[in-house]
Amino acid sequence: MGKSTLQIPRVCPQCGCTFLAKTVKTVYCCAECNWTARNEKRKQERKQKVLDTIKATGTEYVSITQALEIFTTSRNTLHRLIKSKRIHCSIISPKRIFVCVKDLETLFPLLPESLVKANAKQSHIFDMHPDHCYTIGEISQRFQITECSVYKHIRQFSIPTRQVGRFVYAPKTEIDKLYGNKKSKK
Ligand SMILES: [Zn+2]
Repeated sequence: MGKSTLQIPRVCPQCGCTFLAKTVKTVYCCAECNWTARNEKRKQERKQKVLDTIKATGTEYVSITQALEIFTTSRNTLHRLIKSKRIHCSIISPKRIFVCVKDLETLFPLLPESLVKANAKQSHIFDMHPDHCYTIGEISQRFQITECSVYKHIRQFSIPTRQVGRFVYAPKTEIDKLYGNKKSKK
């Protein structure tokens, strides 16, 4: 029995490069990506913990500063959301604004990581209303791609998703952009 000569083409979820994995368990292309990913995961876990504590105490509204500690978003984004009334808030004074934790959670889910990264990278907010989204199943049918690949691409291209019940939604605009050049079934 010689050494494993496995070479599985994979896309590194951290940096997005294609590489040949030597074992089935290899996920990242290099030690650095592995390390970064692990750090990010820890950061997520810390955020989740803070969020859990907030929820456990029954807090429904948090200050913007607090929100920024938990969710990966920007102050500007939050102010925009408040202005457009997309999140519930309680404005005591211009400097003391409290935002609804639940609303933030739907907009900025803590997991998966790729989503958080996507939010950090893209300053604009995606329309995650089900009317403007495809389910993974729909994408798979429409563009003739296996659901497994769809998930892979979503991760690879940091496309935001939203889970409602047992369906995972992804914004139509992003998916059309991604598979637009492929032929779609009508
Ligand atoms: Zn990598």
